[in-house]
Amino acid sequence: MNSTFLPLSRPAIKQPEIDAVVEVLKSGWITTGPKNAELEAAIKDYTGAPHAVALSSATAGLHLCLIALGIGPGDEVITPSMTWVSTVNLITLVGAKPVFVDVDKDSLMTTAERIEAQITAKTKLIIPVHYAGAPLDLDAIYAVAERHQLPVIEDAAHAIGCHYKGRPIGQTGHCLFSLHAIKNVTTAEGGIFTTHDAQLAERIRRLKFHGLGVDAFDRETQGRAPQAEVIEPGFKYNMPDICAVLGLGQLQRLEQITQQRQALVAAYRERLSPLPGITPLSIPDYPHQHCCHLMIIRVEPNICGFDRDQLIDYLKQQGIGAGIHFKACHSQKYYRENYASRFGEINPDLSNSEFNSQRICSLPLFPDMQLNDVNRVISAITQFIGNTHEA
Ligand SMILES: *Cc1c(COP(=O)(O)O)cnc(C)c1O
Repeated sequence: MNSTFLPLSRPAIKQPEIDAVVEVLKSGWITTGPKNAELEAAIKDYTGAPHAVALSSATAGLHLCLIALGIGPGDEVITPSMTWVSTVNLITLVGAKPVFVDVDKDSLMTTAERIEAQITAKTKLIIPVHYAGAPLDLDAIYAVAERHQLPVIEDAAHAIGCHYKGRPIGQTGHCLFSLHAIKNVTTAEGGIFTTHDAQLAERIRRLKFHGLGVDAFDRETQGRAPQAEVIEPGFKYNMPDICAVLGLGQLQRLEQITQQRQALVAAYRERLSPLPGITPLSIPDYPHQHCCHLMIIRVEPNICGFDRDQLIDYLKQQGIGAGIHFKACHSQKYYRENYASRFGEINPDLSNSEFNSQRICSLPLFPDMQLNDVNRVISAITQFIGNTHEA
């Protein structure tokens, strides 16, 4: 066994980014301030979004969006069960009903038809997920949303650097990007909300900081009135400048980061193709740029002779990290035990979510990984297939 552990992910933080963080530490202004404004400007520049608001996480942004859109008891919000739990938790916490929608079996992304089938008179919002670095079919989804006059918040946690029909995700609509440590661009913890709606951006900006009209940096340094007023009760979801400056450095390298990821994924796909019972996610057939956030395979136990959990255990023994993105939310303990009593009947057809939830596995993928590391993962999987077939 190779002695160095190969993790599922590792942030690619370079010396200029470390130096920039140290500069902020020495500057006397470590929390929300000028670096937040620079990060927001850089995101607007990259995506083409007219407005951007930096936040403490994408989860925080989702909370603010639900509040800003007035989602509460009696409302339904459509989102896939194949998503990170934060979305479903927050819909539940604001008192609304999460309505699970199934996904395409091979891309793990939901579709316009599936969403439309879940729309009722109570539906107030749709939160689809760009999955693993590929874009949703936005034209089809927005056609349904417009027909029913429903807002869409795109979960773009995986999608910084991803393009749909020539446009970066974030250029249109309302999007939430995550800058968590595992994501393609990171601030350790953080999120960015982008939108074309100036009023919504203003509201999110206020709600992220106590509901004040102006933040502390503006008051102290930009000559604004020292007494800030609460316009409406708000939260404390702002991003420190220590984090913002880290994200700024990463964004400047986004093209390079994306290309490194794409090269690794191309190698994975080529080397996985001869392996029976191991299939990567499908690639959309509409024009797009994949930002290769996750390298997800599906393990078919009837062909492999082992299941996903056994493969993850074996990889761990070989010093290789792997993960699951995601376990279907409706199969999480709380929702398994409480969905029916709290919300009523669950969408009876979540079969593709359930099928994949038991079979998917994310393999190591991060920009500083080498082709040798890909070979090491492929050798381990090949060996496990060989061992299983001999036994
Ligand atoms: C990471 C992630 C989130 C949450 O992002 P945070 O910044 O950690 O709050 C939401 N949705 C998806 C699909 C994610 O992968």
